[in-house]
Amino acid sequence: MPKVFNWQLGREMSYPYEEHHPDRQFAFVFNLNRCIGCQTCTMACKSTWTFSKGQEFMWWNNVETKPYGGYPQFWDVKILKLLEEASGESQRWNNDVYQGKTIFEAAEKHVGPEPQQVLGYLPTDEEWRFPNIYEDTPVGKPGAPMTFDQTGTSLPEHATWFFYLARICNHCTYPGCLAACPRKAIYKRPEDGIVLIDQKRCRGYRKCVEACPYKKAMYRPSTRVSEKCIACYPRIEGKDPEAGGRPMETRCMAACIGQIRLQGLVKINTDGSWTEDRYNPIYYLVKVAKVALPLYPQFGTAPNGFYIPPRWVPRGYLKQMFGPGVDEAIDAYLAPSRELLAVLQLFRRTNRIIFRYEIQEGPKVYETERHGKPFVMYNDTIIGFGEDGKELIRTQVEEPFHVRPATHQNSI
Ligand code: SF4
Ligand code: SF4
Repeated sequence: MPKVFNWQLGREMSYPYEEHHPDRQFAFVFNLNRCIGCQTCTMACKSTWTFSKGQEFMWWNNVETKPYGGYPQFWDVKILKLLEEASGESQRWNNDVYQGKTIFEAAEKHVGPEPQQVLGYLPTDEEWRFPNIYEDTPVGKPGAPMTFDQTGTSLPEHATWFFYLARICNHCTYPGCLAACPRKAIYKRPEDGIVLIDQKRCRGYRKCVEACPYKKAMYRPSTRVSEKCIACYPRIEGKDPEAGGRPMETRCMAACIGQIRLQGLVKINTDGSWTEDRYNPIYYLVKVAKVALPLYPQFGTAPNGFYIPPRWVPRGYLKQMFGPGVDEAIDAYLAPSRELLAVLQLFRRTNRIIFRYEIQEGPKVYETERHGKPFVMYNDTIIGFGEDGKELIRTQVEEPFHVRPATHQNSI
């Protein structure tokens, strides 16, 4: 297999195709500290794209309760186990370089009548049937799962914990689904890196379903072809009736009640690395503040969804899920810099895609110590600009405080 460079692994890896990258890449950041598991995103997606016959169990956006929940059931545990068996050891990073095998490298060992491009598995029908199984089920004492620890909490990590993991297709840089398709029906759009299945070319072999480690390619029995998240591409193209020709965020992002989601487009160099774009909010969060991390980078697909890890969850679990950057990301989030605090205000202030931000300094509000570090809060103003350079949104760090006059008869 050809060699490509995967920056999330800190090294080269094998991939069935040569390097070839889009000009811009669809990417998003989810702040897991804020997700309330309301499933509004899930329903926004379902009511837009997957409400037809044969799509009953098809949830392109899902929100699962970790650690026990999963859609399909135990998808990540199963693929982690397969990878561990193929690598001959558990996940290991050395100075931010991944030492184990990716799903592509693990497949090279495969011996059998059919060549295999990607290590994966095909979930059973039952595993797809319970998209929100184990909702709100916590972890208790070690050895006593699904119980509450009676000894209370040990902040910042809790003894009893769970968290909501919102997921969509990651529109990966090296997609497993695309690598495995024998019909070459899956492609990555050159203008925005969105990964699509050509419905006319697909013959429903389900190789993509087997190969996607995130299980975000799904088979539709009524049409006998596979389908997946299309990143609401008409909205990204500005063709939504509301968009007025300007790029809009997807439906799941726009609907998010917890305001955990920010989506954008990042510029890509010909070698696949991100072009420096210091004031693009996604670039800033991932590459500068390093507060948002890829989901299971060890799979090797270089996913373009990034997560701010939940601060109350034991670090070992988070490192398995988000790689070696977890401590740095949580430290950055717990005592945010002046710039990070301002950028975090951009989440869900507009449905249009923000391409650049600017910060206007405001007065000091207070200073204190957070988790042993000095923390100063300023009431800065952050301004988000669209692709055309026009202002989209202007907001402040400190939320404006309004007191309603006590004249209404319902006032207390
Ligand atoms: S998440 Fe899965 S379906 Fe989406 S691009 Fe990556 S490999 Fe393909
Ligand atoms: S809408 Fe937002 S807060 Fe609600 S479940 Fe989805 S990601 Fe979480």
